[in-house]
Amino acid sequence: MAKARAPRKAAKKQPQPKKAAAARKRAGGANRRAAPDAARVDAILKALDRLYPTATCALHHRNAWELLVATILSAQCTDERVNMVTPRLFARFPSPEAMAKADVAEVAEIVRSTGFFNNKAKNIVGAAKKIVSDFGGEVPREMEKLLTVPGAARKTANVVLGTAFGIPSGVVVDTHVTRIAQRLELTRQKAPEKIEQDLMRTLPQERWILFSHQVIHFGRDICKARKPECGRCPLESICRAPDKNLP
Ligand code: SF4
Repeated sequence: MAKARAPRKAAKKQPQPKKAAAARKRAGGANRRAAPDAARVDAILKALDRLYPTATCALHHRNAWELLVATILSAQCTDERVNMVTPRLFARFPSPEAMAKADVAEVAEIVRSTGFFNNKAKNIVGAAKKIVSDFGGEVPREMEKLLTVPGAARKTANVVLGTAFGIPSGVVVDTHVTRIAQRLELTRQKAPEKIEQDLMRTLPQERWILFSHQVIHFGRDICKARKPECGRCPLESICRAPDKNLP
């Protein structure tokens, strides 16, 4: 009897390159990166320590409430401009209780020069109302609670928790931290939340608060958005940023 022919094995279907890339991306693989090596991170932190050993927040404030308000006002605005506006604002409305009863139009008029003043005023008065009604007039010390306050997204919450309470809840990711973390290859991400996750994985937690302050100073002084001053940058030898600016 003739031997029955074994059924032919179906050839294994190879994923198409485009489909494979899409699948990797869905799984997070395309954006995954090797962590920067520890020696490199250490060199970056040491250079920042030498440059800015006592860096701190440039927004003037006397308590967590004032820092929260100043941080809301600092969106798309310089800290100097915010510092010019807040003395009058806090003299007129000195507490969350007073601000909760404020007329939004009056607050908007006081903060007009910081830009986006209608939204900022609405958020500040809304934040005051929330803090008075839900948190007994005290700025909460927990990230989850702070995120329920109008105008307080993760960046603002990290500023308040880190600077006012010394709680390392995360890394403040502003425009300077975004640009410099990318230039120094501490992240390949573009979205602030993802950049923050990369930095939280890479940096020791006890450095989270100081790192943001130092990098913000570094971004203003040396590693500027346009024409960074690479000739006087202590990180020049380890920086591979494509937009380095050397003579
Ligand atoms: S070398 Fe230039 S681009 Fe690189 S970190 Fe220094 S200032 Fe920034």
